[in-house]
Amino acid sequence: MPSSELTPAASSEDVQQTTKLESHLVLSPERVSTYEICPRRFAWTDAYTQPFLAPMFALRTALDRGLTTDHAEPERIAENTVLELARSPGLDLIGNVYSLAMHYAKLAGILTALLRTGTEPWTHIPDAELTDGSLWRSGCYHVTGATLPVRIALVDRWTDDRRRGELGGWRTIGEVCALNSPITLTAINIGPAIHQRRHSAFTRCYRHPRNRTFRFARRHSEEDFSRTWAKLWREDCDLRTREWLDKMHEDGCMDDLVAHVTVPVPQRRAAYLLELERMVRDIRGLPEVPEMRLSGCFGLSPCPFTAVCPGIDPTRWGFRLRSVQPHKHPPTISQ
Ligand code: SF4
Repeated sequence: MPSSELTPAASSEDVQQTTKLESHLVLSPERVSTYEICPRRFAWTDAYTQPFLAPMFALRTALDRGLTTDHAEPERIAENTVLELARSPGLDLIGNVYSLAMHYAKLAGILTALLRTGTEPWTHIPDAELTDGSLWRSGCYHVTGATLPVRIALVDRWTDDRRRGELGGWRTIGEVCALNSPITLTAINIGPAIHQRRHSAFTRCYRHPRNRTFRFARRHSEEDFSRTWAKLWREDCDLRTREWLDKMHEDGCMDDLVAHVTVPVPQRRAAYLLELERMVRDIRGLPEVPEMRLSGCFGLSPCPFTAVCPGIDPTRWGFRLRSVQPHKHPPTISQ
């Protein structure tokens, strides 16, 4: 999902970029994946701003800002980004929206603190020109001290199936082919979404009933803590982030929650690039209202247009037509 929901109005820079894009279509991991699962979702995501943002979109945007800011407190930048988006345009959450927004703000903050170990901000990789002249807007980062571009994937479970899906999908294949470079894929398990909150050690801990120490997992057993231990959300807990992360390390949580995979450039790179070229041609030929694909409604993430389909007019559901197409650097963290 592009970050242009955050773009309030067309600037002269936008207009210049629009002219450029008329000749150079911009592909990105997010755009290619969205097109693949549903061409209508792709076209409408480009064409309309949303009345409310998905919490995962806010989380990815906030993490991107936390990673790339040169502010002395990147964690705070990430947290504030979620809260700003919750204020305007608002998040697609029901119930105690402030509490839920704080949940995602704290999650964005702790992920930023986990990843930003150095003082240097991470930087986006420059656009790469593909064989047909279209541009690949990478979702990878250049990280000081790292030899390869880094791609971050936020996942609800890092299973064998998910691993195969990530390594074999356009989000990864597109990157290594377009950049013509191996990359490091860092998958972070943020836990499943249950009742609008993410459940993992990044968001929740256990507190001992008497000595009030905090724990995340038993070190010598697979058993859960007894019911006398209180479950606490991070947003309701005054433990500092660094202390929280250290205790996660001590309890051995990180092996299950963070995975790094080096992904090489495939031998059939040229064939993949031809497929991207074909996709560009198909995208250029899309009608105003492309076909529906029901497998895309909840495939990548919940589609924001589920209330609209099978209708064809998103404006009746609070979506607004953009004055220009989105061109800002998209949030680069995939779900
Ligand atoms: S709701 Fe389903 S069919 Fe409609 S645009 Fe979204 S993914 Fe496509």
